[in-house]
Amino acid sequence: MTRTEDTGDLAADQVVVRLAGVRKEFGEAVALDGVSLEIRAGEAVAVMGPSGCGKSTLLNMIAGLDRPTTGSVTVLGEDLGALDETGLALFRRRRIGMVFQFFNLIDDLPALDNVALAAQLTGTPARQARRRALELLDELGIADRRNAYPAVLSGGERQRVAVARALMNRPALLLADEPTGALDSQAGEQVMDLLIDLNQIGQTLLLVTHDRRLAARCASRLVEFSDGRVARESALERTQ
Ligand code: ADP
Ligand code: MG
Repeated sequence: MTRTEDTGDLAADQVVVRLAGVRKEFGEAVALDGVSLEIRAGEAVAVMGPSGCGKSTLLNMIAGLDRPTTGSVTVLGEDLGALDETGLALFRRRRIGMVFQFFNLIDDLPALDNVALAAQLTGTPARQARRRALELLDELGIADRRNAYPAVLSGGERQRVAVARALMNRPALLLADEPTGALDSQAGEQVMDLLIDLNQIGQTLLLVTHDRRLAARCASRLVEFSDGRVARESALERTQ
């Protein structure tokens, strides 16, 4: 996989994400309780913690899918709190790639169109979008499935299509929320290998996982959450 042009505008060690004192309440419930966190260009950070501790809420804050109750989120120098809804949507489409546990593909579109749509939404002409989508499917080893609808793809194939879609706009940050959670162990390993490859060519990655072994393989830093707070941060020695 080559991605030379994609990372050129980010200096190594540049702060990509900065959360300062982020608190998020849903009614009475406190999902995030004063989270401060920095992620630098080129890092692969794993977030772990029990169900309900705020991991998905954290990713939603960074993607601008939802707003903190208090505190600030800055991504690539852009204070998300200063953006209106349209600004947030544009920011997200252009700068963030997201991968979810249950793929979130559009059932009515074949694989290639699911991927191409991400670029068409940012104004890329359809032909150009389809060409890049095919290149990505090829790099991810599923070009032969380009005309297949999500329903006939295996879980691992669906997730690779979802990763291709997330990469379409060359995002500065790839967010993955339990991307192997719905996969059998072999397909999960393949998706993890893919994320490792992407990080090795410079893709900044924030990954939520329940699997400590996969976190150790994939990430260079572990952030452990508990009750909406960062309970522990540690460097990881990548295994293999
Ligand atoms: P995790 O991803 O770690 O399992 P979440 O971030 O999904 O945790 O949820 C953290 C807490 O916030 C949970 O108590 C959850 O019920 C609550 N929560 C998350 N999203 C919402 C929402 N949209 N409305 C109400 N409560 C929510
Ligand atoms: Mg979650």
